[in-house]
Amino acid sequence: MSKPVSAIKVRPEAAGFTPYSPGLSIDEIKQRHGLAKVVKLASNENPLGASPVVRDVLERKAALVFRYPQWGYPRLRLAIAESLGVDPLRVVAGNGSDEIIDLLVRILCRPGKDHVLASRPCFSVYGSQARICGVDFRQVDLNPDFSLPLDRLAKAADENTALVFVTSPDNPSGVAARTDELEALARALPPRTLLAVDEAYIHFVDDEQRASLLPRLANLPNVALLRTFSKAYGLAGLRLGLGVLPPELADIALRVQIPFSVNLLAEEAGIAALADDVFFNETIRVTREGRAWLTAELDALGCAPVPSQANFIMFTPPMDARTVFEELLARGIIVRPLTSYGLTDKIRVSVGRMDENRAFAAALREVLGA
Ligand SMILES: *Cc1c(COP(=O)(O)O)cnc(C)c1O
Repeated sequence: MSKPVSAIKVRPEAAGFTPYSPGLSIDEIKQRHGLAKVVKLASNENPLGASPVVRDVLERKAALVFRYPQWGYPRLRLAIAESLGVDPLRVVAGNGSDEIIDLLVRILCRPGKDHVLASRPCFSVYGSQARICGVDFRQVDLNPDFSLPLDRLAKAADENTALVFVTSPDNPSGVAARTDELEALARALPPRTLLAVDEAYIHFVDDEQRASLLPRLANLPNVALLRTFSKAYGLAGLRLGLGVLPPELADIALRVQIPFSVNLLAEEAGIAALADDVFFNETIRVTREGRAWLTAELDALGCAPVPSQANFIMFTPPMDARTVFEELLARGIIVRPLTSYGLTDKIRVSVGRMDENRAFAAALREVLGA
């Protein structure tokens, strides 16, 4: 007997959807290579783990998870607004900043009419959320030095450009845009176009000329900033991100977002994380120190690291990148090959603790026979 085939009709955008391609998990690698210890430097997570203050709050609040959270997470919104010095009416939180990206596409883009513009390569979620909505996704190549093509983005935008995404510092290059140039892009765009600046890695910047657009936001009515608790705040597994939006968009976003996508523990953890300066400052210190050390090591190994303002470094090994990736895996080091970004000769390594950075450099030296 042949199995019945369903006649259920699926939207073509869903049937042909390419899912997010995540880094490999520690358990997968341990199993595959029979390793007891694995160093994961693949997903730009916090090398210090989660803050002890936040862990304590999570334990204390665990008993409350039978309750629904408060609608609209008002305490978290207030804490974010106070921490950033912005009007609470501008603040939206989400299930990771991925949810804010998705919300912006759904709020702003008319399928078949409007389009989203970003660089090539760029963080894949901008394109995937546009495509699942049936919205055209257009890209402008990065400059040869991996800086954002801000002039060419401005030129490529027209009255059907609903949304422009830029990432600064950029993933996977670590290159940050000049703040005044981002501001110039915002002013050059058609008035209807929202410029969403993804500041997932902004906390790691040490070049003042490439800082956040946040202090200039009051004068830029068409700019939104996206940030996340996944990196500098060490909460990737809890899923919490935020957007600082023009107030009228924040109001709509709060109304259309899936109810309770910010869960009760994420709200509590976010509030605690924002108040924990000790953990945050130590994260920034360890990251900047490790970044300088790793950059020098990669340089010495002939790997042409791109100077980074983020918590990861992109480099070009002097032999096949796929082989280097596999050989590092066999030695218990997980890094990120950049095939999914179309950068087949490059690898991205997250900055870890110094013991992890040293283990990575030693393994790479062995692989390269250096
Ligand atoms: C890691 C990252 C994010 C954060 O995603 P979450 O959904 O908040 O975990 C956003 N944008 C970029 C470019 C990133 O690399």
